[in-house]
Amino acid sequence: MEHIQSSIEKILNRPDVAASVRAIHERVLSHPGVIMFLRTHPEIDQRTIERGMLKLNEYAEQMHGNQIIEKKAVIEGYQPVLHLEKGQIMVAYEKTQALRDLENERALEKKFKSLFLPDEVRDANFSDFDLTTTDRKLALRAASQFLNATRSKQQTKGLYLHGSFGVGKTYLLAAIGNALKKERVATILVHAPGFVSEAKRRIRTDSFDSFLESFQTVPVLLIDDIGAESISPWVRDELFGIILQYRMMHRLPTLFSSNLSYDELELHFGITNDQGDKLKAMRLMERIRTTTNPIEFLGENRRRY
Ligand code: ADP
Ligand code: MG
Repeated sequence: MEHIQSSIEKILNRPDVAASVRAIHERVLSHPGVIMFLRTHPEIDQRTIERGMLKLNEYAEQMHGNQIIEKKAVIEGYQPVLHLEKGQIMVAYEKTQALRDLENERALEKKFKSLFLPDEVRDANFSDFDLTTTDRKLALRAASQFLNATRSKQQTKGLYLHGSFGVGKTYLLAAIGNALKKERVATILVHAPGFVSEAKRRIRTDSFDSFLESFQTVPVLLIDDIGAESISPWVRDELFGIILQYRMMHRLPTLFSSNLSYDELELHFGITNDQGDKLKAMRLMERIRTTTNPIEFLGENRRRY
């Protein structure tokens, strides 16, 4: 050991090596972050600095000012922080602001789910909102009343946007969803036909209960194209029925879009002409009617294909 130690010292004392070590020390000690650290710790003496040189260098190599140099980062997404531990200079690693922002963004994405919807409405927003027809203005006013109420945490009814194909119902639902996302309100925007087939696929799996629960409890639920799904007594009573019953009881708003009016949707839920079915359809429709304000879209078909 003694022998190795002395041969290392011999190398370090060679003029060329000594000069480059000195250059490194100078570079490290003139790094603004290092200067700042030493200034905030006047108790650090020369000997501690020399002992901590490797740590100071580890820090200085990765940092430009107080910014991490991405390609020099030892641990991706983390930046070195100097501190004193039992009188010795040490480096700890903390998440960078960029990583924290990314994680917040991901947490938000989780709160805002959009399922089975076309890409074209993913960025739907109110600033591009076309207002050429009166009914669209009315729809926009209803949407903004809904958003204001949600923003001020008032209880409010949901909306029932109905009208023919291509008038912009899905676009408006998605714009509302995106506005809620900005407000940090958790929402699920789901296309009814996709939702129903996914529910059927999960029915015999362990994930069904949590799947159902997420639709029951999400603060705002947006169901696009209700009435376009293939209906069955199970879908009506055990899926929509259970979800909407829970949401009504807990006063959680649900917004719908549909090609069908309330009355037409009731016929769709009736399935057969059987008296029992009719009654169940009426009961489900009652929940939808009492918890939403209807908005009719009359505009022309905007689809270009
Ligand atoms: P619907 O759901 O009523 O069938 P969509 O919402 O899918 O209709 O709208 C049809 C097309 O028009 C889509 O391409 C959509 O992006 C566009 N669109 C709808 N409403 C608006 C709007 N207010 N401003 C701009 N583009 C719109
Ligand atoms: Mg649509």
